Amino acid sequence: MSSNPGGPAIAGSFVTAEYIEEFRRAAHRAVDWMAEYLRDPRVYPVVSRIQPGELIDALPSSAPEQGEKYDAILRDFEKLIMPAVTHWNHPRFFNFFAISSSAPAILGEMLSATLNINGLHWKTAPALAELEQVSLGWLRQWMGLPEGFFGIIYDTASVGVVHAIAAAREYVDPEAHQRGSLGDLVLYASEQSHSSIEKGAIALGIGQSNVRKIKTDAEFRMRPEALAEAIEQDLAAGRKPFCVVATVGTTATTSMDPVPQIADICERHKLWLHVDAAYAGTAAIVPEHQHILKGCERAHSFLVNPMKWMFIPVDLDAFYTRYPDILRRTFSLTPEYLRTAGAEREVNLMDYAIPLGRRFRALKLWMTMRYFGREGIVRILRAHMEWAQKLARLVEAEPRFERVAPVPFSVVCFRYQGSDDDNRRIAQQVNDSGQAYISQTVLNGQAVLRIAIGNIGTTWDDVAQCWELVRAAAKNL
Ligand code: PLP
Repeated sequence: MSSNPGGPAIAGSFVTAEYIEEFRRAAHRAVDWMAEYLRDPRVYPVVSRIQPGELIDALPSSAPEQGEKYDAILRDFEKLIMPAVTHWNHPRFFNFFAISSSAPAILGEMLSATLNINGLHWKTAPALAELEQVSLGWLRQWMGLPEGFFGIIYDTASVGVVHAIAAAREYVDPEAHQRGSLGDLVLYASEQSHSSIEKGAIALGIGQSNVRKIKTDAEFRMRPEALAEAIEQDLAAGRKPFCVVATVGTTATTSMDPVPQIADICERHKLWLHVDAAYAGTAAIVPEHQHILKGCERAHSFLVNPMKWMFIPVDLDAFYTRYPDILRRTFSLTPEYLRTAGAEREVNLMDYAIPLGRRFRALKLWMTMRYFGREGIVRILRAHMEWAQKLARLVEAEPRFERVAPVPFSVVCFRYQGSDDDNRRIAQQVNDSGQAYISQTVLNGQAVLRIAIGNIGTTWDDVAQCWELVRAAAKNL
């Protein structure tokens, strides 16, 4: 990279030579610290040991009147902030979905913050508008989704689904744009779907009581016949079904709803089909797993979070729709006649989103995809899925433990055949050890333990050690 090191300061500017040199030195130091941290965060306890309020009490109650030196600021970062960090980057973080950042994506974040682009419309940020299209196109190809899906980045899947539900409403009731929602719209998702769907329905005035939680089968997949029945019942009662959300990779067990059958039902009733593949979508990059998105080519919208399992730091949700015109009609306040003429390739992303401002998130996605290549990403995801299978076999072979859900990806749900309290105590002992962090959930009314593999630094030894901690905790009951 070329720049202009040691160039003269601009007279009269607040950006003085000293300001730049201090930044250069501190940034070099910070990057050295970052490289060491990324090399092995195992030196830290996974979960922060501070008590609630402890950091607030350790920090001054008001900001400094005079500026401080980076030395003092970075010292306090290490002394005060770091102990309050729960290390999502820790290779034995197996809770929620085990997300982690990667070096090229971190570099992308640093460059993005340096440029401070704000992608309101094309003219304000051509690099952002076009790189977002290109990198989302690459990702779509990697996942095996067809051309014709328009891509846009939102911060999170929760925000992505709000856009999907709003577009779905526009699809069935364009008048809602002016008039507001009618009270009879009904949305369907499985009882295993993520809470963000219900929240989205609440935020858009659809109402929680108009979200139908469709029953799942023994493998936690939406039952299509139950969906069809619920839609028929609502139609018979004079309500207006408008949107179905299917999940590929549910949060608790990573089960996959039968998207092709759900798509048949949606097509029959002319409903918007949104697919939430926030976690599992990236697994489709692995050739032998590409089939998991079968039927998604028929979805009206689809989302995947590369920040979950593609080593992109929070935040980045990749959202796709086959109906960009409807998404634009939903969120654009620019009348058609005021659109800039002759600029067919000029995509103004503000017209497809609630926020006006837009970070240059595409840079970290593009840099990560280039650095690892498809082959590099496949190698890591494949290893995670193999280790999950290996762990599942250890669980199955262990007396008094049972696996309680299929393991299609990198998450293993299991339980100790004791009481719910026994299972909770096992999770607490493991997590209190500082050596690993696992989750608990409830399936079929029973407390269940859950290990999610997904961190770029995780090795099979980390998974095996976590399993040993679980076994030891069970012996200690
Ligand atoms: N969808 C699924 C299946 C999830 O598991 C999650 C979070 O874990 C979400 C959506 C919400 O993700 P976000 O934090 O990006 O809003």
